[in-house]
Amino acid sequence: MRRTLYWLQCGGCGADSMALLSLEAPDLAELLRLLDIDLLWHPSLSNDSPKRHRERLDAILGGDQRLDVLCVEGAIIRGPGGTGMYNTFDGRPKKDLAAALAKRAHLVIAVGTCASFGGVGSDGDTEGTGLQFRGRTRGGFLGADFRSLSGQPVINLPGCPCHYDVVGGVLAAQDLGTPLPLDDYQAPLEWYGLLVHQGCVRNEYHEYRVEEREFGEKGCLYFFRGCHGPTAYGPCNKLLWNRRNSKTRVGVPCHGCTEPDFPQPYPFFRTRSIADVPLDLPNGVDRAHYIAYKTMAAAAAPERLRERKTRV
Ligand code: SF4
Repeated sequence: MRRTLYWLQCGGCGADSMALLSLEAPDLAELLRLLDIDLLWHPSLSNDSPKRHRERLDAILGGDQRLDVLCVEGAIIRGPGGTGMYNTFDGRPKKDLAAALAKRAHLVIAVGTCASFGGVGSDGDTEGTGLQFRGRTRGGFLGADFRSLSGQPVINLPGCPCHYDVVGGVLAAQDLGTPLPLDDYQAPLEWYGLLVHQGCVRNEYHEYRVEEREFGEKGCLYFFRGCHGPTAYGPCNKLLWNRRNSKTRVGVPCHGCTEPDFPQPYPFFRTRSIADVPLDLPNGVDRAHYIAYKTMAAAAAPERLRERKTRV
């Protein structure tokens, strides 16, 4: 059966849309064709006139046009003072449109960290929030009890931006009826069940505590350069960008952009630590054992690693 998709852009930078254009094998047009999806609206891809767009919206909201998938990109902006007038469509707050469309949708997908948790868009008096979370707090804009017409909560696909293969994968899974178990923050475990650290080519440096103090030294970025890889869940070293790269592969620390509390209120490129031991330890590790283990590991580091002769 032909399915329909409406893409609503709210308070964000549009990078999730730009990332989606990087889909390849199949590319976006081919994916929509293969899944038999009728793209009702996308702000960067549709060429409907404003009048035609309004007619489409009226049909969806009036129940004459079925809406299978609603993708929301960007935080829901409620400012100033709860009016939502910082982010409007047709002179009205876009938050009202988001609420009305969500009621009509068989599936709601939050694409990117802002739509999922508020992210960058929740800062200051924008009063932004994610669809069903604000940071780590459940509820968000639609409320904790919200369910789309298919009975599912909002599917969160965090990432700043979200990797295109995740969006494509969720659409394909829905089409095939493949279940996608979710984690505590409603993100599919298929992509958010592993740490960014897993799959990083600098793992051996981490293991033996060969640190990168200055950018370009070749070492693990966790100890001094603020890498969140051991604490952030996401597919960044599983699904590479352009099939080739991730932040850590090119020597940039993971900023934890898939996490509900991103962006953190402290500097990105510096590790918070006490006596050179990071404050935020890898998930599940206790401090005493970690200090003992890392001291021994550093002493045991092979010479080729200390001299940074591997090809990272
Ligand atoms: S650079 Fe970051 S992701 Fe890579 S091994 Fe070090 S801590 Fe893990």
